[in-house]
Amino acid sequence: MPIFKAPTSTREVLAQGYAYIYRAAVARKQGAEKFTRTHHILARRFYNDVMAGRKRIDSLFRMERARLGQELKCSYCGQKGRLSMDHLIPRFRGGPDDGSNLVPACRPCNSSKGSRDLMAWLAIRREAPSDAVLQRYIKLAWRWCDRQGRLDDRLEDSEDMPFDLVALANFPWRSLKNPDRID
Ligand SMILES: [Zn+2]
Repeated sequence: MPIFKAPTSTREVLAQGYAYIYRAAVARKQGAEKFTRTHHILARRFYNDVMAGRKRIDSLFRMERARLGQELKCSYCGQKGRLSMDHLIPRFRGGPDDGSNLVPACRPCNSSKGSRDLMAWLAIRREAPSDAVLQRYIKLAWRWCDRQGRLDDRLEDSEDMPFDLVALANFPWRSLKNPDRID
């Protein structure tokens, strides 16, 4: 049984996605092999905190700090070596042209993703992305919606946004296996 009701607003989609990533991070930290009732309760609490504004998900600071000193690798497949910078939310779709939207990517991933939305691309590849990439995607989307005053838009009205929130809502969150840290 899903732990959340189907999301109807952009705020709900983003907060649920973030809560699912949080749940996976907690389970991994404990070395748990399965999600338990406690994980679901923690995820719901996290979601409620985001919805009530008690927890903010738009800061990228800790994420950037965590990357300092880490070896650069492709954000999508983890490969090291020859990397270029990819716009996580494509410029073509209106993604910002600043550091918050730039991630290292290998050439094959970069050209395969092209100007596609991350979630739509992942659905084609049938691969679970790293939670760090998903987290950043959600943070960027949250910030964009917040600035545009569109966090309370209905999900079906999000089609013109630079990211695909319907694909995000349909993401198989149970497949999230390899979460890193959460901030
Ligand atoms: Zn790659």
